[in-house]
Amino acid sequence: MHQRTIRKPVTLEGVGLHSGKLARIAIAPAPANSGITFRTKDHDEPVPATVESVVNSHYATTVGRNGTRIQTVEHLMAAAAGLGLDNLSIDVDGPEIPAVDGSAKPFVTLLMHAGRTEQSAPRRPVVIPYPIGAGNGGRWIQIVPSDAFRISYTLDNDHPAIGTQALTCTPTEKMFIEDFAPARTYGFLKDLGALRKRGLARGASLENAIGVGKRGVLNGLRYRDEFVRHKVLDLIGDLALLGRPIVGHVIARNAGHALNFELVVAIQRALGLERRAAGVAALEPAPFPGRLVPAPAAI
Ligand SMILES: [Zn+2]
Repeated sequence: MHQRTIRKPVTLEGVGLHSGKLARIAIAPAPANSGITFRTKDHDEPVPATVESVVNSHYATTVGRNGTRIQTVEHLMAAAAGLGLDNLSIDVDGPEIPAVDGSAKPFVTLLMHAGRTEQSAPRRPVVIPYPIGAGNGGRWIQIVPSDAFRISYTLDNDHPAIGTQALTCTPTEKMFIEDFAPARTYGFLKDLGALRKRGLARGASLENAIGVGKRGVLNGLRYRDEFVRHKVLDLIGDLALLGRPIVGHVIARNAGHALNFELVVAIQRALGLERRAAGVAALEPAPFPGRLVPAPAAI
């Protein structure tokens, strides 16, 4: 299998889920082996969408380098991974990737509109040779050897609108486009005030997230189990930070961006794939100091 990029540049704009600020992205074809890179107006140096660039993984995945920050890259990364796109150059005018409808569907539509093209360089999948994991108790994630990329995910939540949702799949492109890309992010109304005080969810609305109130979902569901599907979407986007397709079976329970990120780091370390001796960039402090990863309010 060969690497792929898009045929022509495309643009999209919208409000960021966390920042609430308007941003515009321009996605362009990129050479083989260059991977997915982000560039902002203020810094010429591109930020590769890799583990080494992750500066925050609480509530959303933020990449950055030398003061540049690009927040909430995971749904766009998931769209690229789901469509088998390896190389993209993404200019971002704003602090955050637009939330659009809270899913990866608008990015899939955009990238399909751009068209895809094969490049001469081969893809180099990462084959998982033995179990690698992160987390413990009720929140964990692991990857075990398998003949294909598979995901088994269980989401437990006390809220009756969510409950226990579980699925196992061997994602194909068609399945990604139809069953996962449209699944939206979600948030609990009761958490909104606290999140906004911490600079999060400032752009969140019922247009770009499933709102979960006391009595249930406020704006309808696209799938009965949309919550766990969105967790799978986030996972696909975070795994794409490895920069290479994975052959292995990911099994997760109540994981979120932070644990997804821990798994990707653990895979890199286990397989000796680190790009820099220094390893991972210094992480920003958690928004809730002293607390473990917050409940799966999985924006
Ligand atoms: Zn998400």
